[in-house]
Amino acid sequence: MSQAYMDAVEIREYQGRFELAKRHVLEPESGEVRVRVIASGLCSTDLHLLEGRWDLGVLPRIPGHEIAGVVDQVGAGSTPSLKEKRVTVCLDVTCGGCMHCRTGQAHRCPYKERIGFERDGGHAEYVVVPERNLVELPDSVGFEDASILPDAVACMYHSLIGQGHLGISDTVVIHGAGGLGIHGVQIAKYAGADVAATSRNPRRLASVAEYGALPINTRKQDPVVTVQQAFGKEGADLVADCIGTRESILQSLAMIRPGGKVLVIAYISEEFGVNSIDLMAKEKELIGCRGSTLHDLEQVVRLVGHEAVRPVIGARFGLSEINEAADLLRRGEVPGRIVLTR
Ligand SMILES: [Zn+2]
Ligand SMILES: [Zn+2]
Repeated sequence: MSQAYMDAVEIREYQGRFELAKRHVLEPESGEVRVRVIASGLCSTDLHLLEGRWDLGVLPRIPGHEIAGVVDQVGAGSTPSLKEKRVTVCLDVTCGGCMHCRTGQAHRCPYKERIGFERDGGHAEYVVVPERNLVELPDSVGFEDASILPDAVACMYHSLIGQGHLGISDTVVIHGAGGLGIHGVQIAKYAGADVAATSRNPRRLASVAEYGALPINTRKQDPVVTVQQAFGKEGADLVADCIGTRESILQSLAMIRPGGKVLVIAYISEEFGVNSIDLMAKEKELIGCRGSTLHDLEQVVRLVGHEAVRPVIGARFGLSEINEAADLLRRGEVPGRIVLTR
């Protein structure tokens, strides 16, 4: 036992601030390991959790679903050789037996508990997770880069490849180039796509241009008109909507060609009205995308190991500075992800 107590971030009440706490360091049980967390990614969803958009069950809860670190303890009955392995962690703890789990779509498991949601997560010094959620890291992938792979990168991979069936040299729009979108740009470019990406923020626009996308400044340019100018009057093959407002979804539908696809990745507006004739007559597809599978995470670790995708980290904070980090994230000015280091 390395220490009895650890530093952790807690959500104690909804619509409060993140609180720092001392928590017991837990022992892993059979099938589990304990990870000494070295870096954890801060996601907009952490802010939604703090606001109380989901019921997390009994509070306080430790958030944090983007984790990288070293296995420091294995439970009795877990695989002993995992000790000291450098790892990242798939966030869905699934049943393994339902139809979705058996058909490789475990992210849809109705019995799942998510690390950093219904289970305590990684904005702490240690986290206990099932060993089957681990993905081992090659030496070429550092902990900070690895920490943002489970959501900010794997979710975009799952959306574009798994749900969108992105084809070689398609035309793609990333609508909203934030922490997820900048990685969507890179995955689509790697697939040989022509890519455009929108933002209101000059730093984010500079970042998408650096990765080879056409930047569209939605403060100054109409995204629908600009996409038509770039990719032809009918529009793009695929739009990944990473904004999730009623306005952005309607723009996304207007940006795609007949037979094109809109991937719904974000969720700000609870409802949006869709023109049913436009959807029917042009055979447009509106596709929900949630999270990623363990296999998606493995693929993303390989892509980053091959330097096909570079995780974009816009700022780093200590664990105790999470409220400052959250304020920066709310302002929406940082390109890529914010990482909390230990
Ligand atoms: Zn997230
Ligand atoms: Zn299941």
